[in-house]
Amino acid sequence: MNRVEIVVLPGDGIGPEVIYVAIDLLKAVCRQYDTELIVTELPFGGTCYEEYGSPVTEEILNKCKKAKFVLLGAVGGPQWDDLNPDKRPEAALLQLRKELGVFANLRPINVFPALSSASSLKKEILDGTDILIVRELTGGIYFGKPRFTSEENGDPFSVDTMKYSRSEVRRVAKVAFEAARLRDGRVCSVDKANVLESSRMWRKSIIELSEEYPDVELTHMLVDNCAMQIIRQPTQFDVMVTGNLFGDILSDAASMLTGSLGMLPSASIGGENGLYEPVHGSAPDIAGKGVANPLAAVASAALLCRYSLKLEGAAQQIESAIISVLEQGLRTADLFTEEPGTKLVGTDEIASALMEFVQQSENVN
Ligand code: NAD
Repeated sequence: MNRVEIVVLPGDGIGPEVIYVAIDLLKAVCRQYDTELIVTELPFGGTCYEEYGSPVTEEILNKCKKAKFVLLGAVGGPQWDDLNPDKRPEAALLQLRKELGVFANLRPINVFPALSSASSLKKEILDGTDILIVRELTGGIYFGKPRFTSEENGDPFSVDTMKYSRSEVRRVAKVAFEAARLRDGRVCSVDKANVLESSRMWRKSIIELSEEYPDVELTHMLVDNCAMQIIRQPTQFDVMVTGNLFGDILSDAASMLTGSLGMLPSASIGGENGLYEPVHGSAPDIAGKGVANPLAAVASAALLCRYSLKLEGAAQQIESAIISVLEQGLRTADLFTEEPGTKLVGTDEIASALMEFVQQSENVN
């Protein structure tokens, strides 16, 4: 049996409620793939602040870096909102991403047929949507220098800098090409090369790299057209790769295709490290009530199997468990629409149904 160490940071609010569901399932599925997970659970965010007076400690960061793979719940809550910015739970998250050097943020946009009525778009437009957005996470206009505010002839002005180097583009594009090989083999690179120098560098660098991936089809799309195409015909996309700013905006727009924040997983990867977390926050309004939707956390565990553990079968099994639960009509409150054949349930019932699916698959195998 292979042994793999992972660090789990349940965090605050609903973080622990959803992450324990994900961990139990992950352990059970990995065992079926001859892999034993050695889990180290550590405090992070508000819970860490309560214990150590800081939302993360050097020792916790070092343990995360050593383990390489981290599964995180969510951080934050109103009780920590008035702390100094460097003591707030969210500061720990930014520090962790930076320390792990995770430069590529992967956000899969899957529309589950059982949930297509939960989206604001028509079912016939959504059916078959399966997009992977790869967003560059540590460069571009969010980090470029110079960055300042000044004044010219009494008129204040501000400057941000959008800068991309060839190596920054190549490393994130490589993630996109590799991911496409595990999917439908198509990459759409999104830029604004008709106007921006940095986008021309982006496009040139990706075209160069594509020579190493002759089996992957590469196309290019301007970001304004892409915003329209995501809504018009989302099924045309397989893997989309784009810069930090464009990816931020496009992935939020695309998230609405799925219908609920409680369904969206994410993976931030780079080098040998991987940070996996649901897109949602700590949801203090529902924390402790047993009603949180754990499926985004569970889907994040599937991404951990796919991109870090390289256990594609395990990833698919977790994703099949999610589909099965939805097809049984089980819905947490965020998804419940009183559609015939559906039943309003809590976190525990979803967890039991997921585990039952996995155990049945084990018996079949
Ligand atoms: P949120 O994502 O926590 O909640 C937004 C709404 O969605 C709430 O009504 C909540 O009940 C609902 N929701 C979210 N996840 C759900 C789930 N799994 N199941 C059912 N319903 C769910 O965003 P917010 O309310 O703006 O922020 C709350 C706290 O979370 C803040 O402190 C914020 O800073 C923090 N936050 C953390 C992260 C993170 O840890 N990555 C991300 C976003 C927000």
